[in-house]
Amino acid sequence: MKKIPTFLFLMTILILVGVLLFSAAGAQQTTPSQPFNTALTAIAGPDRVVVLPAKTYLNGWVGYGDPPRRERRRNEPPPQPPPNPGPAPAVGWSMDSGPGAVTFADAKASITTAAFSVPGAYVLKLTADNGTARASSYLNVTVDTQPPSTPLNAVYTTNYKINSPLWSQKAKSLIVNWIPHCIDQINRDDLQLGPGGIDNFIEAGKKLAGQPHGNHKGYVFSNAWVHQTVEAMSIALMIDPQGDQDIIKAQAKMGATLEDWIPKILAAQESDGYLQTAFTLPRIDAKGVVNPGPFNHWERRGDHEGYVAGYFLESAINHYLMSGKKDARLYNAAKKLADCWVKNIGPAPKKEWFDGHQEMEQALVRFGRFVNDMERGGKGEPYIQLAKFLLDSRKNGSEYDQSHLPVVQQYEAVGHAVRAVYSYSGMADVAVETRDADYHSAVRSLWDNIVNKKYYITGGVGSGESSEGFGPNYSLRNNAYCESCSSCGLIFLQYKMNMAYHEAKFADLYEETLYNALLGSTDLEGKNFFYDNPLDSRTPRYPWHTCPCCVGNIPRTLLMLPTWMYAKSADSLYVNLFIGSTATVEGFAGTDVQVIQVTDYPWNGAVSITINPKTQRNFKVRIRVPDRSVSALYASTPEADGITSISVNGAAVKPLIDKGYAVISRTWKAGDRIDLDLPLKAQRVRGVETVAATQGRVALRFGPLVYNIEQVDQDINQVLGPDSTLAAEWNGDLLGGVMVIKGIFAGGGKMTAIPNYVRNNRGPVPDPAKIAPSAGGGRPAPRPATSIVWIKEK
Ligand SMILES: [Zn+2]
Repeated sequence: MKKIPTFLFLMTILILVGVLLFSAAGAQQTTPSQPFNTALTAIAGPDRVVVLPAKTYLNGWVGYGDPPRRERRRNEPPPQPPPNPGPAPAVGWSMDSGPGAVTFADAKASITTAAFSVPGAYVLKLTADNGTARASSYLNVTVDTQPPSTPLNAVYTTNYKINSPLWSQKAKSLIVNWIPHCIDQINRDDLQLGPGGIDNFIEAGKKLAGQPHGNHKGYVFSNAWVHQTVEAMSIALMIDPQGDQDIIKAQAKMGATLEDWIPKILAAQESDGYLQTAFTLPRIDAKGVVNPGPFNHWERRGDHEGYVAGYFLESAINHYLMSGKKDARLYNAAKKLADCWVKNIGPAPKKEWFDGHQEMEQALVRFGRFVNDMERGGKGEPYIQLAKFLLDSRKNGSEYDQSHLPVVQQYEAVGHAVRAVYSYSGMADVAVETRDADYHSAVRSLWDNIVNKKYYITGGVGSGESSEGFGPNYSLRNNAYCESCSSCGLIFLQYKMNMAYHEAKFADLYEETLYNALLGSTDLEGKNFFYDNPLDSRTPRYPWHTCPCCVGNIPRTLLMLPTWMYAKSADSLYVNLFIGSTATVEGFAGTDVQVIQVTDYPWNGAVSITINPKTQRNFKVRIRVPDRSVSALYASTPEADGITSISVNGAAVKPLIDKGYAVISRTWKAGDRIDLDLPLKAQRVRGVETVAATQGRVALRFGPLVYNIEQVDQDINQVLGPDSTLAAEWNGDLLGGVMVIKGIFAGGGKMTAIPNYVRNNRGPVPDPAKIAPSAGGGRPAPRPATSIVWIKEK
């Protein structure tokens, strides 16, 4: 139990640091960055998007020196008040440029609102004037209209087949090794590292039955191990083993585990529906000291009550689907838990409260929509309303958990990256469900800030400069944090943006995150994982660690492929990902439609899609036309976007392109086939000037895959000249079969680059106890990088 107190201590320190990390980001044209500057200063605030008819919340600052809220890097001294402040300056907001009129609620107040007459690009100016000196600052506002009135609908993951060189292998490694490993760890009651598995539910069940019982072990949120693994098992059981004996054996173990665990989980649910064993049982800490409680519900934001409850709701969705909607044990228990929350949390006389981690916010909308789909009659609405209430309750807190401002006034991604993307994902859901323009504006702004200012080429987020979180704009050090859970959360956010806006670019982005930031979080065999995913990788993966998050989040997200591949509207079937597979889109166009993709993508650009509606129907198939340069931070050469050719039943077609989709409209009957060809080329990618970490460096890409060079193949400090030829070559013997990119370094040496997701799969496997990093922002001790994305170009 040695790791825990160190970790808790570290966590406390880091939370305190997080609380201190205040931000005054945005356009600061007149603000030198020195912390002790005493010049007259104006800070307009972060750039943002406004979705009409919303107004924007201006949170400007004028004064002398640095503002009181400023994001600091670790080890940077806190800002000091200026020694000789001058006279109070006059404040003035004005429109610097724009296509329409801007109305300020109070142009003479730094904190006010602005409304816009027509869509377009505006620049607002904040001026400070003390009679002898003036300072000004600008912010960009993009004013847009509401998204379509109806969002796309989710395609639930039901029984499906994977037939893809890359994905069959990855799925097998997760099913045969990773998930069974999680089951075994959760069934143990002797773990020193990451304790608190199913044993907590067993003991809570005994207590509720009036029997002698043990104590809650591990983190207050250790129940999350169990719920995430239940969801991962449920999804894994929906994958057709196609006769593979290893998969059949692993699935049998999962089926038996669910039958073993479900009664234990249900027995730990209190009579009012509440479920979190850290609140039912006395808690034992790492030193063996028992805190008998009582632990009151919904009082402490750090107890992760929403985090644990949310994962339980989500696990019930896929368990219910896996059972063919026949086994409602978890589904009913999840409704009981959600009802318990709805009964207690809400506008007065109920309790106003929020959890420090926003998992419940996104889970409540996902679950509410699911209940609405399963039962009709709007039974899920109270859950969706509660999600909004929880989000609206966030205020007067810190950037660490995104409670520094009301969520609708947040325009810059800050704080703990997993909490942030979960928060924004929940906000995207609420925006769609309520058509609240303030919510839409904040989500669009946060999305824009992430994708165009705080986004890694791998699709990862979180530089780790704040506690496990985001750094300032354009500050994207290669020793990134990029927690695996933040990749999951970013996929959820991009997916929801795709549903809201019906635009392919959001799927372009989640493909990027899926194939790079997330896919490589487990090793080829599925025996070890990465908690954090820096771009200059220095450590091998490890089998387990202290924090109940990534280990179950990774498989449940990676295996939910039909949901990521397809979406549906009243008249259109959307194809968002290209993966060799057979899946069914249920309840579309008045029928069910089986979709078979035959493709070796991402190794080969040929994709064949067979559309098999149960009965002949007229509808549109919208196929994503890849755009590999959505983020403004990166540019690639040569171009490899778009679709080279499309044919339907062998006849070439030139479909209309709408919102990034090729639209094919016809009466579809079983066996109709679309063939398309995607251009896949070895590309060079360069970062824009504002990203210092990428200057003088180049990254390589093939299709959606970002590449690494590894010390095991070459000296990774060599220079790859801009004119050297690159060639993509298939190597079936390397790393389970991958396309490698070959080239010649400036010194004449051969360069071999391998996909980022298979990085660090060669070399000695270290003692896990020695290398498992502590959560909470702790970075591994500096050691030489062994696998890097950004290669020296000069
Ligand atoms: Zn995690």
